[in-house]
Order: sequence, then C-alpha cells, then structure tokens
Amino acid sequence: MRDGRIAAVGARSKVEALPEAGPAEKLDVEGRVILPGFVDSHTHLIHAASRAEEYELKIAGASYEEIANKGGGILNSVKKLRAATAAALKARASAALREFAAYGTTTIEAKSGYGLDVTSELKILGLHQELDREQPLDIVSTFLGAHVVPAEYRHTPGGPQRYVGLLVNRLIPEVAERKLAEFCDVFCDRGAFSLAQSEQVLEAGASHGLAPRVHAEQLSRTGATQLGVGLGAASCDHLEQVKTADIRALAKSKTVATLLPGCDFHLGLKEYAPARALIDAGAIVGLATDYNPGTSPTLSMPMVLSLACTQLRMTPAEAITAATVNAAYSLRREKEIGAIETGKLADLGVFEVEDYREIPYYFGVNKCWMTIKKGEIVYRRGAR
Ligand SMILES: [Zn+2]
Repeated sequence: MRDGRIAAVGARSKVEALPEAGPAEKLDVEGRVILPGFVDSHTHLIHAASRAEEYELKIAGASYEEIANKGGGILNSVKKLRAATAAALKARASAALREFAAYGTTTIEAKSGYGLDVTSELKILGLHQELDREQPLDIVSTFLGAHVVPAEYRHTPGGPQRYVGLLVNRLIPEVAERKLAEFCDVFCDRGAFSLAQSEQVLEAGASHGLAPRVHAEQLSRTGATQLGVGLGAASCDHLEQVKTADIRALAKSKTVATLLPGCDFHLGLKEYAPARALIDAGAIVGLATDYNPGTSPTLSMPMVLSLACTQLRMTPAEAITAATVNAAYSLRREKEIGAIETGKLADLGVFEVEDYREIPYYFGVNKCWMTIKKGEIVYRRGAR
C-alpha cells in the first residue's frame, strides 16, 4: 500500500521481490482472511433516535403500515429529527460510523429523508459532507426528500403534489447547486409516492445531475423497478415484491438490484427478495444494511451476509461480491473501491477466521479483527 492505494498485490514471493518492497513497513495479519472493505450502499445514517417503542407493537403483530398510520414510522423519526440539534445528530452518526468501521465497512452511502422540509433536509446533507471530511470512512450522499409526504402536506387537498413541487422546484436545484448529494432517491410505494410522482422527482434529480436510485417493490408492487431501469437508475433497492418481468428488466440493465434482508428480518417478514432468481437471470445483485431506526437497526454487513446466505440462498462468495464490488458499482465507484486490485484504494477488512465462508457462517458474531481505510488502520480489535 502506498499513498492510500494498493501498490501491488499477489503472491508474497512476487510482491517481496519488488524494489519498493524493501523499505516498506510490514503488517502481519497472521493468516487471517482479508477482504475488500465492505461498501454499504444503502443507509439512513442521520437520525435522532431509535424507534424501540414501536418494536413491541411489531412483535405483537402490528404491521409497518399500521404503525405508520398511527403517526409512527418515518413520520415519528421526522418529528424527532426536526427537534434535534445538528450537534446531537452529528454525535450519534459519528458513533455509528466508528461501529460501521468495526464491522469491516469502509464506504457507506447515506440518505437524507428524516427532515422533509428545506431546513432539515439541508441540515442532514450538510452533516453528510462534514462527516465525510472529518472521519476516515467515505460517505456518499443521496437526497431522499421523497421519503414520505410530511404531515403538514398530508391533509390538505393537493398537499402531496405541492410537496413534490417543493422537491422539484426548490430542494433538488439547491442540493445540486451546493453539491450536497450525488444521487436522488424516491420511496415509491403504497403510503409513500406514486409511480408518476416518483418519475417527476427522479427526472428532476437527473436533470440536475443527481443520478437516480429507487426504493422499489418493498411493500407492494408499483412498477418502480421498471421506472428505475428506464431512467438508468444506479440501483433499485428492496425488491421483495418483484415480478418476473421486473427481474428480466434488471437482468438486461446496468441497474444494481440492491437487497436489504435486514429489513425483512427485523420486521419478521417471511418473504425475502428473490435473490436466486435475480442472480440466475443475470442481474447485478448488491447487498446493504439499510441501517435505519424503523425497519433495519443494524450496521453489521457480516450479519447481512449471514441473512443473504441462509434466507436468500446466496453462496458466501456471491454475498461477498454483492457487498463489495457490486455495491461499489451501484455507487459508481467500481474503479476506486470494492476489490483488492492494484491502483484501487487500500480499503480492507481483516477477519479472525480461517476461511472466508466462516464470516457469514458465524451469524450475529463480529469476526472483524482490523479495518484499513486508504492504507490507515481505522479499527483494530481490542484497541480503542
Ligand atoms: Zn431505505
């Protein structure tokens, strides 16, 4: 590794024979397994608090939508975020970022979407930028003003459409102008945004240089996947309810199918996304935590790998590919991260196992021993 990048890779005898190898400092990981650092391509990093108060309702059988209809769900997080100071939000996110690193993650995507007004959305995106600058992990920022319609626009005639107007005419241009995000995302679903509204938001984003990503076919099948593919989206995420035609469309496209099994696990749902059908059809499958307080309160990519293997029937190799190079592709950073190759960033996770398959095999246990970001050790087990 040199200047934060991988200078050479290969058999020890070959690498040690290089003239630069002589003066290089040696880091012995003593036979442990090294992977490219995980790329967590779907998180809702900035939020004010957990929603543990909803957890028992879910266990008792209330659905995600029933809780949302009672003022819980995303709007609950919006209320908490609007009341929180930027300093408190930043402290919470900083602690989470240290934990991401402790599980072997070196790059995360982060979405806004718990502000849903001009001030609060810009506050979140500003924090993405500050945190990206001030701590070692890379943060890729996504504008998700179209998460749900905020309460103040819900109960007036034409309210939701006026909110879409605020996103399209005011927020998207400002976010793009101030370079606060690279991507624009929409939650296209029952109880969130319609297909037509989603198209409006994603097209406005694209026309300002924000590449589309979509929350698609999670609770119901809306057609968001084919909308995303048609718009050249970087990723369609969730996909629990996809139909054969959607799978075919993804397979023919360069849009990554990002699966979020932590969400189904936390909600106790039986139906996971059809990973096997997607892979067998030739779609590019990615995996991410969907770290958020309502449906997937985990930041552990190893746990996501375990779920991908046991619930989605992906092989450990497929799951690791999905969590590294494919996820990097969905963030348009495949030339920089996601694989251990000469010239790429020296982003690595070192695991206390003898075989890479043991990483998902030991579920709910963190086997990460060391994390390296741009050539620097950012986490070492036992050291704080
Ligand atoms: Zn999400």
